[in-house]
Amino acid sequence: MTITPQNIAIIGAGIMGLSNAFALLQDGHRITLYDPAGFPADNASFIAGGMLAPFSEIEHMPASWIEAGLESINLWQEIAATLPAPIDFHKTGSLFVAHKEDLHILERFASHLKSQKSCRRVGREEINALEPHLNGRFTTGLYLENEAYLYPSQTMQALCDDLRGQGAQMKQEWADPAILDQQYDIVLDCRGHSAENTDSNLRGVKGEIVLARNPEFSLSRPVRLMHPRYPLYIVPRPDHVFMIGATNIEGAGGEHVSLRSAMELMSALYTLHPSFGDAQIIALHSGIRPSYEDNLPRITVRGNIIACNGLFRHGFLLSPFLSECVRKHIAGEKDNLHTSFVSIENEDHDQRTRKNLRGAA
Ligand SMILES: Cc1cc2nc3c(=O)[nH]c(=O)nc-3n(C[C@H](O)[C@H](O)[C@H](O)COP(=O)(O)OP(=O)(O)OC[C@H]3O[C@@H](n4cnc5c(N)ncnc54)[C@H](O)[C@@H]3O)c2cc1C
Repeated sequence: MTITPQNIAIIGAGIMGLSNAFALLQDGHRITLYDPAGFPADNASFIAGGMLAPFSEIEHMPASWIEAGLESINLWQEIAATLPAPIDFHKTGSLFVAHKEDLHILERFASHLKSQKSCRRVGREEINALEPHLNGRFTTGLYLENEAYLYPSQTMQALCDDLRGQGAQMKQEWADPAILDQQYDIVLDCRGHSAENTDSNLRGVKGEIVLARNPEFSLSRPVRLMHPRYPLYIVPRPDHVFMIGATNIEGAGGEHVSLRSAMELMSALYTLHPSFGDAQIIALHSGIRPSYEDNLPRITVRGNIIACNGLFRHGFLLSPFLSECVRKHIAGEKDNLHTSFVSIENEDHDQRTRKNLRGAA
């Protein structure tokens, strides 16, 4: 199929905007990215865990999205192989463990995964073989071998460098979809939670994390620690740095990490292994997850503006898949899987008139 190159503006350089830019450049489109926070920008994507964990998120996702997540993992594998700079992408699965008093939470979670062949119960010995530094502290767990993880800030840096190298323009400024709409063939609105002011269905869910360095400890994969208040995870980063996250706070504003959240996260880390008592705190961060009522993403087409938003806890997990849906929509390719994730709303009269005028010019 021959694709006519279009002038496309992408507003927002979170993972959704960058992933769209990457996919659309493959089809030869001319891309201009807008973000006042820079490239890469310091946003919810930049501080995320980077877990590509569709089964771990089964409580938040219907089966069709789990399929989408698995396709994204394959797409990330291809992207990682294409990027000139190596990125920390690992397909080593995820391990769930629980302290004795929280074993019932692990059992409840296991019941959601009953039908999934890729989930396996593991005992003390297998946990130790997977993660020797847990050192016999957990007697029962679940291993989800098809999950993966990557390092978000490094991946976003590598994507920005690659997009620049492929000729994408980057403008460090605010942009308004309704204005750019008149200057570009297509506008992708990827503003994350900032789009709340024009999309009343969108809400922000705050997530807080702690980064700590512990030279005494290593992990080969994300470890999820069942916790009564929110799902906790510890994700390994290079250099014995570990990220622990994340809180899940509805309606919370502000960019700070609360004292209570910091204490809860750090004490959970300490219960994972006492050597964290001497760990060095590197940073505390918070981000706002853009979310719709059902916590599922939406691609909405209104005239020549395509909004991609509501990625909630799944920005890295789902963005390559969503970008594939956007790419196919723009290329006019239809298939049963991707087409059904794009919802097309009627163009309003103004948009049609503008398009006709542009066509006539
Ligand atoms: C603590 C935490 C941990 C997470 N862990 C994971 C995880 O392990 N796995 C996973 O898949 N997901 C995870 N997520 C979710 C993921 O981070 C989000 O779903 C994702 O960041 C949303 O990406 P986005 O591009 O839509 O928005 P954002 O990353 O918020 O980016 C939006 C960008 O738009 C820009 N912008 C806004 N308005 C304008 C404007 N008018 N003009 C120009 N630019 C504008 C902003 O400056 C910003 O840079 C986590 C989130 C948090 C908070």
